[in-house]
Amino acid sequence: MKTIGLIGGMSFESSAVYYRLINEMVRERLGGLASAELTMHSVNFEEIVALQKAGAWDMAASRLGDVALRLQVSGAHCMLICTNTMHLIAPEVAARISVPLIHIIDETARTIHEAGCKRPLLLATRYTMEHGFYADRMKSLGLEIMVPEAADRTTVHDIIFSELCAGKVLDSSRQKLMAVIERAREKGADSIILGCTEICLILDPDRLPLPGFDTTAIHARAAVDFALEGELTKVKEDAA
Ligand code: GLU
Repeated sequence: MKTIGLIGGMSFESSAVYYRLINEMVRERLGGLASAELTMHSVNFEEIVALQKAGAWDMAASRLGDVALRLQVSGAHCMLICTNTMHLIAPEVAARISVPLIHIIDETARTIHEAGCKRPLLLATRYTMEHGFYADRMKSLGLEIMVPEAADRTTVHDIIFSELCAGKVLDSSRQKLMAVIERAREKGADSIILGCTEICLILDPDRLPLPGFDTTAIHARAAVDFALEGELTKVKEDAA
């Protein structure tokens, strides 16, 4: 089994989900008490949020690049940035390491494409919805990203930072997100991207009026696929 490197803490609420999902998937596939080989560096999110607010993406890239390098030295065979937003600087982080960076947008795009959807609504932080890096990267697979209207973008962004990243999951906010989804559906959205790694804490992708794609679960699954490549065959051979 290969060792998964996780750049976490953005926020720790979603890093905890990554940790659980990755381990559950490994146990499910290998059986018994199998669990993942992984190494995580969890940053102080307050510092990263300050850099985001200041638009200091180059400093954030340098900070996360240092973390990635440290994880690689400690044995990681692949790297995950456990947040959609910070994929804004994924190319800079990837350039600092020699192990593959498993890209959350690429994995999500592939999953949506395979499901036959074409016009997903992106629910994410303001940075992810407005910087265009998500839409640009998904275009190559023929996906046309929709984002909520300005007022709705503010609502989604605020729910993420003021509530979900702070450990608060409110029914009233779930209703607001469902209303945002409904408005997008009327405008032609055919699916929903839970494009922030905390949104799975408040929305169940299987209980939406349109197909839902949870980036946290998709990203975690891609890491497990990488880590266990060849491993399942080995278990079967052993059993035979
Ligand atoms: N975890 C969130 C995301 O997936 C937001 C936190 C951040 O700004 O990095 O975008």
